[in-house]
Amino acid sequence: MRMMSLSDAAKRIEELKEQIAYHNRRYYVLDDPEITDAEYDLLMRELIHLEQTYPELLTPDSPSQRVNGAPAEGFAKVVHEIPMLSLSNAYGPDDMREFDRRVRDVIQGPVRYVCELKIDGLAVSLRYENGVLVQGATRGDGETGEDITSNIRTIRTVPLRLKEPLSIEVRGEAYMPKPAFVRLNEQREAAGEPLFANPRNAAAGSLRQLDPKVAASRGLSVFVYSLADAGGVSLDSHSQCLEWMDALGFPVNPNRGVFDNIEDVIAFIESWADKRHDLPYATDGMVVKVDSLEAQRKLGFTAKSPRWAIAYKYAAEQAETVLRHIILSVGRTGAVTPTAVFDPVQLAGTTVTRASLHNEDLIRQKDIRVGDTIVVQKAGDIIPEVVRSLPEHRTGAEVPFTMPEHCPQCGQPLVRLPEEVAWRCVNPSCPALIRESLIHFVSRDAMNIEGLGEQWITLLLEKGFVRNVADLYRLTKEKLMTMERMGDKLASNILQAIEASKQNSLERLLFGLGIRLVGEKAAKTLAKEFGDIHRLMSCTVEDLTAVREIGPKMAESIVTYFSSPGAQQLIADLEALGVNTKYLGPRPGSDSAENQPFAGLTFVLTGTLANMDRKVASEWVERLGGKVTGSVSKQTDVVVAGEKAGSKLNKAQALISSGQKPDLQIWDEAAFLDALKRHGVEY
Ligand code: NAD
Repeated sequence: MRMMSLSDAAKRIEELKEQIAYHNRRYYVLDDPEITDAEYDLLMRELIHLEQTYPELLTPDSPSQRVNGAPAEGFAKVVHEIPMLSLSNAYGPDDMREFDRRVRDVIQGPVRYVCELKIDGLAVSLRYENGVLVQGATRGDGETGEDITSNIRTIRTVPLRLKEPLSIEVRGEAYMPKPAFVRLNEQREAAGEPLFANPRNAAAGSLRQLDPKVAASRGLSVFVYSLADAGGVSLDSHSQCLEWMDALGFPVNPNRGVFDNIEDVIAFIESWADKRHDLPYATDGMVVKVDSLEAQRKLGFTAKSPRWAIAYKYAAEQAETVLRHIILSVGRTGAVTPTAVFDPVQLAGTTVTRASLHNEDLIRQKDIRVGDTIVVQKAGDIIPEVVRSLPEHRTGAEVPFTMPEHCPQCGQPLVRLPEEVAWRCVNPSCPALIRESLIHFVSRDAMNIEGLGEQWITLLLEKGFVRNVADLYRLTKEKLMTMERMGDKLASNILQAIEASKQNSLERLLFGLGIRLVGEKAAKTLAKEFGDIHRLMSCTVEDLTAVREIGPKMAESIVTYFSSPGAQQLIADLEALGVNTKYLGPRPGSDSAENQPFAGLTFVLTGTLANMDRKVASEWVERLGGKVTGSVSKQTDVVVAGEKAGSKLNKAQALISSGQKPDLQIWDEAAFLDALKRHGVEY
């Protein structure tokens, strides 16, 4: 029904086109959207609705009629012989039924649908010649994309060589798993860099970097979902294509379904509405495709999308709540971070009460005041964030936020470096800073000093027993026993854990020191590459950037850290106290059989080990050259079975007794420790 005059509709359409063009550029070219996808989709839906109501105003260059996006400068362009299209969208069961009707109008017979989760990443095309990956490209505007082959090669799940020498082209979604997205944004925040709005923009931003080291360090992955060119192999259905690609060694998402009617499709979509939040990657919908390739050919394409597929978009989960406080915390780099504390709301499967507000500028930009009604969501399904405030609900009692001039912990003036958004406490003896760096040092992924949790660290600081991480190695039983609630056994355990941590390999120490931008993975790379902390300390920025995965900013930060007299003194103290500063695993070029007694052996660790946690045990196996996998099979050589080992142990016993793998060894913890001991590892 026509609700406005033609000239008003034309005016509104122009406005929408302009806004959409602006947001397309921010999203596709800059990987930095200003509005949420749901807000963007509303603009697009309004445009499509107006164009349907006033068809005389529809032009072929409308963003509703073409694949949006553009290849960025700096990359070679790739012309897609088979265009890479977008998908039309559905927002509810009725849209799905309407899609089914359109399909059946053309097909006039039984129709089978394949449902696949819609992974929230970016489309990539992978070309193989004689079984070898020769080109990786982005979608761009659908006809011309960017050549990102060197970045694609860094993605571990992309096969570089196929099991058969085929010349084919496949398409899929490159994505950033949720944990990698969280880590990346934490690192960017610590470095004062702008955050990525969601894993999709983070993945696109990583793949569209000219330096492949950046993509390599971002933990990207891929799921393949279509066979654009089967290289002459004849297949009848899309589900066969998926199975074939799976067999060729491509990662194909296993969470899919095949159904013969649209109601079952709708039920399948609904069954994933909540479950999908538990997946380790973000999804924003379900793609439904007609299975038969013959039927697909009959249905054909519009300029923008195939008529045989549709993307069902789950409603973005947002909730309204009231902001009660903004609290400030001082991190281990001194950055003062404001956090919103609001009335509890349910979001993407969990109850949420807090969200980082990141920095003062952001609070100002979004005009967020204490007492405001706010809209919250989870970015990329995982990180709670405040989308906006709702000023229309204000009563006048709301209080705008101002950043204090002094550190909330030590009272020293806060500083803001010219190129940074964060205010920092730069007092090296700020108790918050020291506390956070100690907590980080003892944490599981760093020095792994079990028993020394946050509360004990706080008490040790209060008592004045520790001022820096080296002091942990100066603790005595007498000192520990002066603390309230400390028992003899606990004190012994803590001291034992501290003592054991001296034997850690260098990467744990490097990560534990909390050098800006050096995460767990980079610490491992550095330890492996340089072997010894003194070699690392004498490195220049050039020496460091020569290492794959180490970028200039991290290199700069490492050199700055080790050039400070405080850090040099700390390393000297740690060494004098007996802390190992060498890498203990196999190093490139030094993998002699002597260092690698477990080489060629595949281990499975199961049950509870009394003397070390399984992660540490796995590290020892790997250091001695062995491989650790999660499940028992004929490929397994040794099963280390701790207390309460269950199905994996049973399976191992069955493999032995059935004669399928008679030489499989089962070790209990004592046998494992003995084996370590024989190779010079005392635990
Ligand atoms: P789309 O994301 O709606 O759907 C098409 C894409 O889905 C394909 O290109 C492919 O990459 C992906 N996909 C994932 N799993 C798939 C599977 N199993 N099978 C087939 N395809 C699969 O379309 P689009 O054109 O890439 O992007 C449009 C969307 O981008 C909008 O709906 C909006 O949410 C978002 N956007 C947001 C802004 C913003 O400013 N926030 C701006 C532009 C676009």
